[in-house]
Amino acid sequence: MKRDPRSGKVGLIGTGMVGSSFAYCLMQSGLVSDLVLIDADRGRAEGEAMDLNHGLAFVRPMTIRAGEYADLTDAKVVVITAGANQRPGQSRLDLLQRNAAVIRDVVPKITAVCPETTIVVATNPVDILTQIAEDVAALPAGRVLGSGTTLDTARLRFLLGGHYAVDPRSVHAYVVAEHGDSALALWSMANVAGVRLEDFVSGSGRGYDRPALDAIFEQVRKAAYEIIQRKGSTYYAIGLALLSVVEAILRDQHTVLTVCSTMRGRLGLEGIALSLPSIVGASGIEAVLEIPMSDEERDGFRRSAAILSERLAELG
Ligand code: NAD
Repeated sequence: MKRDPRSGKVGLIGTGMVGSSFAYCLMQSGLVSDLVLIDADRGRAEGEAMDLNHGLAFVRPMTIRAGEYADLTDAKVVVITAGANQRPGQSRLDLLQRNAAVIRDVVPKITAVCPETTIVVATNPVDILTQIAEDVAALPAGRVLGSGTTLDTARLRFLLGGHYAVDPRSVHAYVVAEHGDSALALWSMANVAGVRLEDFVSGSGRGYDRPALDAIFEQVRKAAYEIIQRKGSTYYAIGLALLSVVEAILRDQHTVLTVCSTMRGRLGLEGIALSLPSIVGASGIEAVLEIPMSDEERDGFRRSAAILSERLAELG
């Protein structure tokens, strides 16, 4: 079968733990024909390309190479995972100054060679950095998005699945707002197989228990700290979360994901990036959904936005 060598090219900026985990997921997905790896440490990108290439005998054909920005021409999606990660005890917002400089460095280099691309940011603090990337890129609305709370949402679904002994894929619950300490779970709309949590009773008779749910969410909120304390950084689950975002774009799936983007009037917020369930397809974010929230949730969302606005203002 003849393949269009330009179809499904994806670029990856930053081939550290998160970037290489995403690359490994992408390689196994068979989704793309060409993956270009770029890192400030060229040797690191080359080493990852070599290691990944040695697995190509086990997956569908594609090319994987370490490259330069010029090699991103025609890339449909460019994922940014470049930048410092949290050290034990550090919050995501502590990384702001350093990683804002990384985003301001790499985004113009991407748009200079592929102005038609969609950019997916994962570098932390992902909300503010997505907003900066949006400003710098000046691409059409929706074409710069961040992984936002896709990972937190996956963590919540996993833990709720364990609590109720059901497949996490049958749990529909969202974490929204900051990907960080002020994230919040939208309990008012959380459900298992369409049954609201307040009404849901598990196979073993487990029913609604708000303190237990709050304890589960506390685990979600602390997950990164707990993992970083034990193994230095988190990367597998974010690799898969990034794959789900990239797949939604490349396959034009219109998948609802809690990606982040700059708010344009949702909940009265303007010009600050946060996560809300959004439809993701070929043009990036196609719509940020209007979702019902309790008064408590709306207040929490606005508080999270205020925290991010403050940090953004400090950055200048
Ligand atoms: P890492 O240190 O393993 O890798 C970072 C890589 O970025 C390094 O290889 C480094 O050389 C490269 N880099 C730095 N500046 C660069 C530049 N200007 N241009 C190109 N490459 C550059 O870190 P990691 O564990 O892979 O984490 C990367 C980022 O992802 C961190 O900011 C981390 O906090 C974030 N992260 C986000 C999520 C999420 O849910 N969004 C989850 C986990 C980690």
